[in-house]
Amino acid sequence: MSKTKKVLARKMSPESLMMSYGYKPELSEGAIKCPIFQTSTFVFKTAEEGKSFFEVAYGKRALRPLEETGLIYSRINNPDLEILENRLCLWDEAEDGAVFESGMAAISTTVLELLKPGDLLLHSEPIYGGSDHFFKHILLKFGIHSVGFMPNQSKEEVINIINSTGKADKLAMIFIESPANPTNDLIDMKMCVEIAKKFSTNNKKVITAIDNTFLGPVFSHPLKHGFDLVLYSATKYIGGHSDVIAGACVGSKELMKRIKSFRSIMGTMASPNTGWLLLRSLETLKMRMTLQAQNAEKIAVWLNKHPKVEKVYYLGLLKKGSKQYSIYKQQCLAPGAMISFDVKGGEKKAFKVLNQLQLIKLAVSLGSTESLAEHPYSMTHAPVNDELKKKMNLTEKLIRLSVGVENYLDIIADIEQALAKA
Ligand SMILES: *Cc1c(COP(=O)(O)O)cnc(C)c1O
Repeated sequence: MSKTKKVLARKMSPESLMMSYGYKPELSEGAIKCPIFQTSTFVFKTAEEGKSFFEVAYGKRALRPLEETGLIYSRINNPDLEILENRLCLWDEAEDGAVFESGMAAISTTVLELLKPGDLLLHSEPIYGGSDHFFKHILLKFGIHSVGFMPNQSKEEVINIINSTGKADKLAMIFIESPANPTNDLIDMKMCVEIAKKFSTNNKKVITAIDNTFLGPVFSHPLKHGFDLVLYSATKYIGGHSDVIAGACVGSKELMKRIKSFRSIMGTMASPNTGWLLLRSLETLKMRMTLQAQNAEKIAVWLNKHPKVEKVYYLGLLKKGSKQYSIYKQQCLAPGAMISFDVKGGEKKAFKVLNQLQLIKLAVSLGSTESLAEHPYSMTHAPVNDELKKKMNLTEKLIRLSVGVENYLDIIADIEQALAKA
């Protein structure tokens, strides 16, 4: 008895809870795994029950003690999504979360709910291509302006950028992506939170949001550093098997309530099948990310010594004493599994290496069990303007590598033979 109590009293790690948290087998014929609730609608026991579920769904009353939200319709709620959201929250220690049919659906739904015409959005550069287009072109159509800053700019410089827009009083959100893709430059979360505070007033809080796709939810926990919202392309590490497109957002109850209501209206929620796939994936998340990070470290160190490699961009190789290193120590738990490197000789040589790879597949996307390589300059970052690319060391000689779970010696052997032939 006392033994059981002790076990229960201990706060369990997320990886221990990913197989069971939030799921009641007795509600599903005793099935050990949560089934796919592939249903559009749910049967109410009585009209009174239906009325009561809708009262909660439309915010007419709060949940009573011990009452659970009733299932209504799969655009509003579905067991696969609710269980998945509860499990996702455990990693970031978030109050609530929402899953979406893509990372872009998560980002666009969240930003559109929280910003209004006239507002200013500050974002880090470079940013994921889809987000970049959404901020610079789509938001503008709604009268929302955006302005960017570079990873190594100081707090004063960033404040000057905000002031120089003439819309400093309209700053509504700071949105960052850290580490930046593909060069792994870190953005200082603490600095962003301080800037958000500086521009917040009694009736307007500047919201801080981060795209945590590259290191989270295992190696980076931005809510602990004062961020309000954490966003994910769950297509990447969370899904982890290159077989699903999905997204997520986690944060406070208050913000998530707004985002979830807007998701219901926009219809950007994930499908039950997507939810089920991600529940499966979460069970091995820690294991996969840990092994991928271990592999990446060995590969990065090896690449760093290779005579045909000019420079390696990897968080585990940051120089002690540098500003980037201190940011890394402050906000990251491990270097993750994304490596970029410059091949001596430019695009021609980089293409030769990419074309010779055998085990490693030539594809965009990242975070999956299989290792992937791509050429950011001409592929993922093709639309980025040349000047910005130059500023961020993104040149034709750069190859981006997403390290998978294969034996690292096989990955190294594959890169070695490709470099030898190039
Ligand atoms: C892939 C990606 C996205 C977009 O996610 P989708 O699931 O493809 O919509 C957003 N941010 C980052 C950092 C990504 O890598």
